[in-house]
Amino acid sequence: MVFTTRFAPSPTGPLHLGHAYSALLAHDLAQQAGGRFLLRIEDIDQSRARPEWEAQIYDDLAWLGLTWEEPVLRQSDHLPRYRAALARLWDDGLLYPCTCRRKDIENALSAPQEGAPTHGPDGLIYPGTCRETGTSGLGEQMPQDAVLRLNMGKALARTGALHFTEEGTGPNGETGKIPLPADQILAATGDIIVARKDMGTSYHLSVVVDDAAQGITHVTRGQDLFEATQIHCVLQDLLGLPRPTYHHHRLIRDDQGKRLAKRDDARAIATYRDEGLSPADLRRMVGL
Ligand code: GLU
Ligand code: ZN
Repeated sequence: MVFTTRFAPSPTGPLHLGHAYSALLAHDLAQQAGGRFLLRIEDIDQSRARPEWEAQIYDDLAWLGLTWEEPVLRQSDHLPRYRAALARLWDDGLLYPCTCRRKDIENALSAPQEGAPTHGPDGLIYPGTCRETGTSGLGEQMPQDAVLRLNMGKALARTGALHFTEEGTGPNGETGKIPLPADQILAATGDIIVARKDMGTSYHLSVVVDDAAQGITHVTRGQDLFEATQIHCVLQDLLGLPRPTYHHHRLIRDDQGKRLAKRDDARAIATYRDEGLSPADLRRMVGL
């Protein structure tokens, strides 16, 4: 299988130095392996995605000297594909609609079990309030405009023992074969959302579907997504999708040691470019 990796930005703001590092690293890895570098625009959140940010992504990456295969995959063009994956989980009886508001979840979590984590990769770990009120199944109609959650306990009872291969490092130096014991996944993630009300899909679902659709053999991305990988492994197993190798990379931080965010306009690639820096300067700044 030819080494295939991707850069998958969301067009919700300017790309910054952290994105430059991620894209350059993925591109370099593909080149070293004689492989492929693909681009994917993660624009399922249509309330935040903007065409001008998407255009800016192409500009910035081209300025950095990167080339990618066409056509670019835009997630908003593939919503039926995510609904089909969702329908499979629905028919397998692994989903349920959730009507909780954030406040309900906070209230339910206000008396947490001693020592149990309250935060997972998506924020608050859902206490399971709606789990018993309705469940999916073959012959049941999948609601269109509802939040759908994965019954993680039920899902993990279906998957085999899970692990993935880390060719980079996790935030705590994790590398090599990363085992994912079921009880650990359940405690760390809970019943995650697989379809948001306004999108009909979610980041986690779309990512695993598209990594498979694009034939990605190596996922190159920041350590901020290391904890999400366990969720992706569960979904791959449930959907019968191949598991890529993962390469999580260090994060580029600002002078205060804080991870860069989309709103850090000062670190935007375009700002450096306007100030007259070269792509080689940026490569140096991120340590490549
Ligand atoms: N779209 C995600 C982001 O911009 C990256 C997704 C991924 O690499 O899995 O943070
Ligand atoms: Zn609920």
